Amino acid sequence: MKIAVLGSTGSIGTQTLQVVRELNSRQESSCNPHVDIIALAAGSNVELLAEQAIEFNVSILSVKTPEDALKLKNIFKEQCKAYNPQIFYGEEGLINVATSPVMLLVTAIVGMIGLKPTLAAIDKGIDIALANKETLVAAGDIVMKRAKEKNVKILPVDSEHSAIFQALNGVNSRDRSALKKIILTASGGPFRGMSFESLEKITPQEAMQHPTWNMGNKITIDSATLMNKGLEVIEAMHLFDVKPNEIEVVVHPQSIVHSAVMYKDGSVIAQMGNPDMKVPIQLALTYPYRADSYTKELDLAEIGSLTFERPDFGAFKCLAHAFFAAEHGGTLPAVMNGANETAVGLFLNNKIGFNDIQYNVIKVMQEHMVSNECPFLKEPSLDDVLIADKWARTFILNETIGGLK
Ligand code: MG
Repeated sequence: MKIAVLGSTGSIGTQTLQVVRELNSRQESSCNPHVDIIALAAGSNVELLAEQAIEFNVSILSVKTPEDALKLKNIFKEQCKAYNPQIFYGEEGLINVATSPVMLLVTAIVGMIGLKPTLAAIDKGIDIALANKETLVAAGDIVMKRAKEKNVKILPVDSEHSAIFQALNGVNSRDRSALKKIILTASGGPFRGMSFESLEKITPQEAMQHPTWNMGNKITIDSATLMNKGLEVIEAMHLFDVKPNEIEVVVHPQSIVHSAVMYKDGSVIAQMGNPDMKVPIQLALTYPYRADSYTKELDLAEIGSLTFERPDFGAFKCLAHAFFAAEHGGTLPAVMNGANETAVGLFLNNKIGFNDIQYNVIKVMQEHMVSNECPFLKEPSLDDVLIADKWARTFILNETIGGLK
């Protein structure tokens, strides 16, 4: 099976390549396909991309800038003269990787930057293993409609959505009318139980310590503010065609129950496992089959107890506002997402405080609902979504509240 990966040097990208190594190390079968990596895109981690490219003999590569592309070429010239892949950069490069001759594109890239390449792949009829949740948050209606038209599968990689997908027995085959609600679990992040006031002084270093999952920077901060769960509510809404009031968020600190589905007879089907992203990644690569796994087996007796509690919407206001964005739809989720991406970047660079992420996201969302400059649109086109996203980012950079340090 031929695949391409956007964001190959990030957390999900490197784990995807590890899954490919593991699948290719075993006897090939219909459950355990041999995977050929045809194209890889990364940002500026040129050294790691070069290693990956040589190891998997990848023919199409993309990096962030022309300088990165030159650096990559020079590495190959020094280390591996016979190897001569096509090298691209920037947005065009991402699209070239996304539309390479493959069956499946893994979108492991972080942020809105994944939207255009994902749509380009869908237009070519390439199935998507979706780890780039921002794409669905900002333009879920457009992406899902296009996928349906092109008969393209969107296979969730996000652990919660993979769990729901499995509990629904594959998104296409479920009995819709029997579904009552989706129970989306959240670890609660590192600051579970803290008050809004006590969150004020949290530093980026503290926010980067996630209790159960080891992830990239942006998603780790999103997990600490619970915005990640908010984004996942919207992601689930689009992936499984449910309304926000059919999604319940439950905090489950052990991260063993990855999410669940409640049917109308009261039966709840949950998917469980040790927290390891390689499991949902592998399922997206082998679906509809399951391959063997090197992941540590779940030992329920060893774990002992699993606990659940309601989220604290007062301390973690982003989650409440994500539900608001989910209900309103239109351009509001794109604005929320653009504002959040920008605010998280400012926080990671010590420009704003932890709670300022929430303040800023809420402020931009409120502004958007009354704005003449960037009015709320209920049924936006792709261009409308991109404009709203850009407006939200600029608004935050120009009018950041919470005091720049
Ligand atoms: Mg998740």
